[in-house]
Amino acid sequence: MPARCARRLIPRHDSGTLPDMVEQTVDTTATVDATTTATGTPAATEPRGPQPDPRVVEALRVRFGPIIASAHAHDPALQAHIDRWAGFTAGRAPPGPDALDVDGLPVAPARADRAIMARIGAPVARWPGGARAAVIITHDVDAFDGLSYFPVRMTGWLTTTARSLAAGDRRAAARTARRAARWSAWWARRYDPVADFERWMALESRYGVRSTFFFLSLARALSREGRMYRVADPRVARVMRTLVHHGWRVGLHASRYGSDGPGLLEQRQRLEDAVGRPVRAVRHHYLSAPFPAGWRDMRRAGLDISSNVGFHPPHQGFRTGTAWPHRPLGADGPWEVPMALMDAAYGPAAARLEAVFERLLDEAIAVGGALVLNFHSNYVAEVDAPGVHRAYGRILERIRLAVEAGDVANMPLEDAVDHVAARAVDHGGEPCPRS
Ligand SMILES: [Zn+2]
Repeated sequence: MPARCARRLIPRHDSGTLPDMVEQTVDTTATVDATTTATGTPAATEPRGPQPDPRVVEALRVRFGPIIASAHAHDPALQAHIDRWAGFTAGRAPPGPDALDVDGLPVAPARADRAIMARIGAPVARWPGGARAAVIITHDVDAFDGLSYFPVRMTGWLTTTARSLAAGDRRAAARTARRAARWSAWWARRYDPVADFERWMALESRYGVRSTFFFLSLARALSREGRMYRVADPRVARVMRTLVHHGWRVGLHASRYGSDGPGLLEQRQRLEDAVGRPVRAVRHHYLSAPFPAGWRDMRRAGLDISSNVGFHPPHQGFRTGTAWPHRPLGADGPWEVPMALMDAAYGPAAARLEAVFERLLDEAIAVGGALVLNFHSNYVAEVDAPGVHRAYGRILERIRLAVEAGDVANMPLEDAVDHVAARAVDHGGEPCPRS
């Protein structure tokens, strides 16, 4: 067994609260210490228990590089926390009893990272320029424009308004009617803020930011996915190529239906044909990726970066307790860079975006992690998501200040993964034999 390869000492936890795990790991630590020599290297005796799960070992090795060579790799507390990264319940779930309170909104902390750091100390600096955290900006492009198939859109608004009235929700009905009226006026004079990607580039350039836009890769604009857009539409291809030409990145926004099996590969290939560049990163529409099967589909589809582990608003924060990029399936699987903050058109999350950002930025800095933001490109229209785009502008200013202070590095998702991956290779560590 290579010196840097860790053994699993306790069974995997697929469920259970953090206090449960701490309780259990405290019980077993004494056993581990007894098999560890004074130099910090594991004793020659074979640890008890089953063979290590390669993905857990890899997650530790990738994140901690040189530290993993020490006896810490055998610490069952670390194993337990990293197990959580790969074993959690997908879908809608609240952040848990230890959530941070941000103006009444529960936000999940980087609890696993903190627990690991409590045992092995602060991680080595990992971000460019010695920055203590990375801020990574992404945009889901759910709508390419606001005017295509306008009668279909209008029908949807009328239906929604009628439903709201039938349910007695006059406020929602008024809101939808307001949107319908505003968009109708824009439609009449062919004005469309959503289709204006130059505006995004100008805004982010002003703050020295480069981000990743996740585009859908649908063969048809109208389908069971809804009123979306066709990736081969020349307007879409032109925008994607312009973004990439100026330093932005294009990732795949995988559809809700048909993203398992060969469907994901087809979407990636269609998107690459349109953008004219390799596509590496994926986020599923409605965060609909299943776990862990979704990561396996990504691997088969040739996508090596995922940012799918996150909450559905209003919940926010680090879904599995980690702000660290990691590889849940091990060395040949994709990187997961958890998405910690997603905007929302309405509701408690929409009203607290800046406060949540501040809290999560503190959290990312405290653990040396990455803070991934997701602002939908179509929420640039004030009438569709009141206040959201203005909040985004103020967050960009806050990011600029944090970058200037040397606290934070800003980079596209793909560059952040390349940075971490290069460090992991630098620091070496023997891959564990598959068991
Ligand atoms: Zn989406």
